[in-house]
Amino acid sequence: MNILITGGAGYIGSHTCIALLGAGHKVIVADNFYNSAIETIDKIQEVTNKKIIIYKNDITNYFELESIFNENPIDGVIHFAGYKAVDESIKRPLDYYYNNVLSTINIAKICTKYNVKKIVFSSSATVYGNNMPPFVEKMKLQPSINPYGETKVMSERILMDMVNANFTFKVSILRYFNPVGAHESGLIGENPNGKPNNLMPYITQVAKGKLEKLRVFGNDYPTIDGTGVRDYIHVMDLAEGHVAALNNIKQGTNIYNLGTGKGTSVLELVNAFEEANNVKIPYEITSRRPGDIAQAYADPSKANKELKWEAKRDLLSMCRDAWRFEKNNKTL
Ligand code: NAD
Ligand code: UDP
Repeated sequence: MNILITGGAGYIGSHTCIALLGAGHKVIVADNFYNSAIETIDKIQEVTNKKIIIYKNDITNYFELESIFNENPIDGVIHFAGYKAVDESIKRPLDYYYNNVLSTINIAKICTKYNVKKIVFSSSATVYGNNMPPFVEKMKLQPSINPYGETKVMSERILMDMVNANFTFKVSILRYFNPVGAHESGLIGENPNGKPNNLMPYITQVAKGKLEKLRVFGNDYPTIDGTGVRDYIHVMDLAEGHVAALNNIKQGTNIYNLGTGKGTSVLELVNAFEEANNVKIPYEITSRRPGDIAQAYADPSKANKELKWEAKRDLLSMCRDAWRFEKNNKTL
């Protein structure tokens, strides 16, 4: 299939390009490089030895998006493009609603106009808010989590309503848990601008000596050791989940959790990283980060069954691959 990947130069998009090219699909990437680098496209081509068609386009601009559909036959779209930082979304809510919601509306409109029936959308476990884990797809979503989460809830709703109006569409909404790690080549990985917000890139930068020590946000949660628990998933497992989602896409709207189903605490991840890479990660316990929840992990059984997909890589591989990329990453 010819697949348009919006945000395909970003962290999850770039790994998904590798998985799709490996599975024999043709890939067209549309990215404005707001949070990524054009060199990533060269690296994907180097790893796969396959060509990508690339557009430096903004998905919020309908006409820029339409030019891609005029120039290429497209069988399906995977829509990754968007802003993703929770903290930033609280400070700049309008930018988040504009970019994330408008881009989804444009994708829905263009797919309707060009009769492209297959859409896979990047949603997030954040939509579950304070529900009790393990999170299952049919749980009632929590309103007003944060502007970022709201953009995901709204985007899901827009796509569902599109399907309600025309049931021939096939939409898969994928709710990701915590993607970490990097492609085994060490050539592509997560390369956040500035100081990382997320735990794994923070740990790798401490390991590299770029940051002095990790701050563990709270050790008084009702968890195994008091620190926050998340469902870390290797980014290549997540990428392969998109290939499975496309291969098994069904009529209507279908929602799937992409996670491992296993919860890992902050200190467990620190220990795993030290063990996998034989490095020390100095840390201090600080107060809780506002807005954090104690635990979030998936019930991935629906994706396991219906997509015939399962996360395979363990925590040690996630830590090894994340560190390999950080060591190779000359841009830091
Ligand atoms: P990323 O920032 O690395 O990638 C997003 C890409 O989209 C970037 O290359 C950016 O330049 C591009 N982009 C943003 N706005 C655009 C626009 N208007 N037009 C064209 N390109 C645009 O983020 P990621 O981690 O790869 O996340 C991909 C998607 O998955 C996002 O929608 C994010 O909300 C979602 N998600 C991510 C996580 C995570 O932890 N990384 C978890 C759950 C959901
Ligand atoms: N965390 C931490 N120090 C950091 C970054 C994160 O202790 O510098 C904790 C955070 O409180 C949470 C877990 O690590 O319990 C995962 O945080 P991340 O931001 O990576 O993911 P999210 O909270 O969005 O699931």
